[in-house]
Amino acid sequence: MWSIIGHSPVLAALGRALQSESPAHAWLFAGPEGMGKRTAALEFAAALNCTSTDKPCGACRACRDTLTLQHPDVELVVPGGICDEAEHRDHADSRDLRICQVRRLERVISLSPYAGGRRIAIIDDADSLRAEAANAFLKTLEEPPDGTVIILLAEREERLPETVLSRCQRLAFRPLDRDTVIEALTVRGAEPRQAEVIAAAAGGRIGWALQALEDPELLSERESMIDDALRLAHAGRAERFAWAKGAESRVPDVRERYQRELGVWESWWRDVLQAGAGATEGLVNRDRATLLAEEGRLYTADEIVNFLRKLLETREYLLANVDPQLALENLTLDLPTAGGSARPSTVRAR
Ligand SMILES: [Zn+2]
Ligand SMILES: [Zn+2]
Repeated sequence: MWSIIGHSPVLAALGRALQSESPAHAWLFAGPEGMGKRTAALEFAAALNCTSTDKPCGACRACRDTLTLQHPDVELVVPGGICDEAEHRDHADSRDLRICQVRRLERVISLSPYAGGRRIAIIDDADSLRAEAANAFLKTLEEPPDGTVIILLAEREERLPETVLSRCQRLAFRPLDRDTVIEALTVRGAEPRQAEVIAAAAGGRIGWALQALEDPELLSERESMIDDALRLAHAGRAERFAWAKGAESRVPDVRERYQRELGVWESWWRDVLQAGAGATEGLVNRDRATLLAEEGRLYTADEIVNFLRKLLETREYLLANVDPQLALENLTLDLPTAGGSARPSTVRAR
């Protein structure tokens, strides 16, 4: 039994692979964060070695060891993870998948499996494979040792070289519809109103929705990120820079925090754009629909589209080694400005 909610085309494809004598040996699970890609990969890995007829059963040794990441033949590779080089101790901060990790993986999968079944490698954040590491990996991806299955997980598959993409069987993880998310939350004990609010904020990301049900902090963090987006559009430069200064802190996950915040801003400004065009359906932040409609009247579409582009750019900078505070300061300079003085008020009267 899969525990994955929704994603029926994905499950159908995986089901077919499990029935086949020789399933594809390289897979790409593509889609935004919080969509269940990693869960799907682990369950697929479990199913590939599951000894029961209803795969993955979740109960046999292979299933249990895989799902708890204790299976000797299941290798999870993440940015900053281990390699074979004794002098490479200090990789924990690395945001890339490095060539030394690829070399280690190649060594590991060249050994015969301990448990005698299939050997599975799951490469998380595969879009952070640097070009040289990706190149080093091509041959393995093309022709892995017998019985090996490699699963790449990527949020932004367009960052992967075509040579990698073309060697993988691709499965797309798309946002789930709201009713499916609400139902999943309700089944897990959410109150109707709570399910509505979480589902609205989740924007189809089921993993995020379930996490938010467990951890109310997630929802309040998101609320405060939207408050930032709203406040800063109405604020002067000093206040905007004060916000960006938060990125100066040496908290280890500061880049991820702002990455998340900019993701939330993206959903907010897309909504403002839509609401400004008179849309009421399909808003992610529909719990703030009235406010969105008001905000939508304050900015031009061009201004918002331009800002959305800057948001994407800045998220790329946060992934690279650009000083986060500087990147965020620059971003705030392009924030749409409520009732900006340079614009005639007739611009929106279309
Ligand atoms: Zn099993
Ligand atoms: Zn290394």
